Amino acid sequence: MTNKPDALVSMRLKDMTRRHPDQDDSHVCSQCGEALGLYPTGQRALALNPRLVLVCVPCAAADFDLNDVNVAAGSLHEILREIRESRRVR
Ligand SMILES: [Zn+2]
Repeated sequence: MTNKPDALVSMRLKDMTRRHPDQDDSHVCSQCGEALGLYPTGQRALALNPRLVLVCVPCAAADFDLNDVNVAAGSLHEILREIRESRRVR
């Protein structure tokens, strides 16, 4: 284990090709300052653990071995449902 704070990885707003109707666009990446689009699962994770550090996908990919990332039980199902609920924007 490291002493790094837990990170919530989110897509950059400008990289999103789909939008969830309830997504929150008010957050930025803690590393590069890019605007993020937070899906409801991310908003809930942040509400449950306000100390989560927000990181965009490119910053996370540069900093984490993605094989070490664990997906919480049930969250993958929820994320897939949110993707189905999202609407294409470009
Ligand atoms: Zn970033």
